[in-house]
Amino acid sequence: MDFRRPGIERAKGDLFEMSTNEILNRLSETLALRRNADPETSYTAKLLAGAPDSILKKIGEESAELIMAVKDEDPARIACESADLVYHMLALLLSCGMSFDDVTRELALREGISGLAEKKSRGARLDAEGCIFCRIVKGEIPSQRVYEDEEIYAFKDIHPVRPVHILVIPKRHIASLSDVGETDRAVLGRILCEANRLAVENGSPDGFRLIINTGRVGQQEVRHLHAHIIGGTLPLGPMVRGE
Ligand code: 5GP
Ligand code: ZN
Repeated sequence: MDFRRPGIERAKGDLFEMSTNEILNRLSETLALRRNADPETSYTAKLLAGAPDSILKKIGEESAELIMAVKDEDPARIACESADLVYHMLALLLSCGMSFDDVTRELALREGISGLAEKKSRGARLDAEGCIFCRIVKGEIPSQRVYEDEEIYAFKDIHPVRPVHILVIPKRHIASLSDVGETDRAVLGRILCEANRLAVENGSPDGFRLIINTGRVGQQEVRHLHAHIIGGTLPLGPMVRGE
């Protein structure tokens, strides 16, 4: 099916000479200006006053109309419904305090990555954005650092359960031991290889326990892989208490 509108590329006039970016920016600016207009006379003002529900409802309707237009193989309506969707999407972004730049940035990040690879990495990237341990690595949240190299970061647990309680984490976001792959072998090896030295240097000279809580059954609370080094001078007791 070729849905191109005959003759549209030949159309002339100011708007057709504007780049896609210019048109989107202009529309965003118009939406922002109309935001404070009288809802009685301005559709945009009324729409934004009821955001986000009013806009979400329209996006649902416009999507359905776009589907119908494609099914009917009607290029004029496809363009029209797509334009309506873009308009409402820009309104939604505005109501969320965002702009089309946020979408452009997201698209730019995906540039050059295959669709499947992008989908796979998106989860990890979004996870990492709100991840407390990633923020500790970046220095956005303070921590008592005990060791750091290019791959791992070790710091004192905020709620120590024994005199020595250190967390060792990969600097790169890995959600849990159930998410590791081939590329994680080196960093996992490094965590194990540094554990004894970290324990000894921090007050556990005669052994320690290394725990990596994993997933729901392991009762992992923070979704960034971490090894607990737990020790001190006294034995720790049974590894896991029975119920
Ligand atoms: P999990 O139950 O996921 O194996 O353990 C998470 C550990 O992270 C807990 O022992 C908790 O005390 C520690 N923790 C959570 N938030 C912070 C924080 O902001 N700073 C530090 N230093 N430790 C934290
Ligand atoms: Zn993380």
